[in-house]
Amino acid sequence: MIVTQRIDGKARAERLVADVAAATAKFKAKIGAAPGLCAVLVGDNPASQVYVRNKGRAAVAAGIESFQETLPATASEAELLRLVAKLNADDRVDGILVQLPLPKHMDPQRVIDAIDPKKDVDGFHVQNVGALWGGGVDRALVPCTPYGCLLLLRDLVPDLAGMDAVVLGRSNIVGKPMAALLLAENCTVSLVHSKSRSIPDLLRRADILVAAVGRAEFVHGDWIKPGAIVIDVGINRVAAGEGKSKLVGDVAFAEAQGIAGAITPVPGGVGPMTIACLLRNTLLAACRRRRMEPVL
Ligand code: NAP
Repeated sequence: MIVTQRIDGKARAERLVADVAAATAKFKAKIGAAPGLCAVLVGDNPASQVYVRNKGRAAVAAGIESFQETLPATASEAELLRLVAKLNADDRVDGILVQLPLPKHMDPQRVIDAIDPKKDVDGFHVQNVGALWGGGVDRALVPCTPYGCLLLLRDLVPDLAGMDAVVLGRSNIVGKPMAALLLAENCTVSLVHSKSRSIPDLLRRADILVAAVGRAEFVHGDWIKPGAIVIDVGINRVAAGEGKSKLVGDVAFAEAQGIAGAITPVPGGVGPMTIACLLRNTLLAACRRRRMEPVL
């Protein structure tokens, strides 16, 4: 009988934030200013407001200067592009994140590609995507959620080479960059998506399974290879009776017990790592812009 390890992403994220805070203090002592992170919020989507507020608070707690720019949902794409250009030129700003989703009349990729790639702390700019896939992980700014997943995996298995990794979901934000990172670690990588056939069979091959499908408890226990490491990126709100709701992942957590070797819980797994990696990227961007040795 396998005893499934619960991967504590919250504790790992706290350690990473502490490392970023220590390195940020050294950066400030040397440069005389803190790294700066600016979040751009367009419209009044309540979830986006919460995300931006949480990111700002986390930045301040790590000693990073936090800025916020807000535009109304009626703003034109040209106005947003002008704002991005202003932030590109602002020396106090090392990291720019444009909170997604944007209003429907804006092209998110056009906006992201207007960000200075050196300030693209979300890692979504085409230049960072190209560097990630082109063998330049060390030059790129890497998307925060998949990088957080990789750190959790590396804690369990320092050398991932040769492992069979299956990534369920192929979004530009999670699935594809996750696959690129695992490939760079010399895993044998499969990307599974909505047109894939025999999904349970494909998943059963995985030594490492990363689920980023956005469907509550989609992955059943008997789809998991005994002993596999399961990283559950999904965040799905479901009814919990008596008018209440709760968050669950893309993997049926209870079913995975006794089968998976290790699994991230939801909440408390990948989620906290995402914000910690955003702070790390901001510090990294600040160091690289000043041609300082990366400190993390
Ligand atoms: P997304 O853009 O909606 O992508 C979902 C992916 O899953 C797509 O590639 C889609 O395939 C695939 N898919 C959907 N239904 C499927 C099915 N029945 N069988 C196989 N594949 C299927 O989602 P995302 O942005 O990657 O996010 C995924 C989940 O992670 C969500 O729950 C989200 O809330 C969560 N998330 C968490 C964090 C965090 O910090 N923890 C960060 C980002 C996202 P196609 O491409 O073929 O349509």
